[in-house]
Amino acid sequence: MLETAWKAVRGLIPESHRQEGDGNGIIVHDGEELTIRCLDERACVFVMYDGEIAKCSIQHLYMQDRFSWPKPQSCHLFPLRIRGKRRDQLRFERFSECAPALIAGEQQRIPLVRFLGEAITRVFGSSFYDELDRRSQELLSREEEA
Ligand code: SF4
Repeated sequence: MLETAWKAVRGLIPESHRQEGDGNGIIVHDGEELTIRCLDERACVFVMYDGEIAKCSIQHLYMQDRFSWPKPQSCHLFPLRIRGKRRDQLRFERFSECAPALIAGEQQRIPLVRFLGEAITRVFGSSFYDELDRRSQELLSREEEA
């Protein structure tokens, strides 16, 4: 499926990304799992630039109804990662570039589960999301009472 996306985004991404993906492939095994190739261990080959702002070219096309599916599920879920041998664990991954978003979420009292509600529902379904949200709210209430 990513190969289809790769063909669709060619006109949006920088030439260096095209060369990297065409020359070395868009998927790489990082020693643990398959992942999308990045340039200089930073920008994914699917990144496009709107001025100084980096955007996902797949999501960009999807939002414009020019592509039939949004960015990959693992990207949509980030900074939650699916882990475990049976892929049955959700873990939070700390990433320094997300720090401003975490601070804003704390100030606005938006739990990560709610912020990622669309992605969690997309990947695990609405029953799972509802239960996770209920438990997250319980934990928050307990924290506030303590
Ligand atoms: S959302 Fe995923 S596919 Fe899109 S640019 Fe970011 S890492 Fe790449």
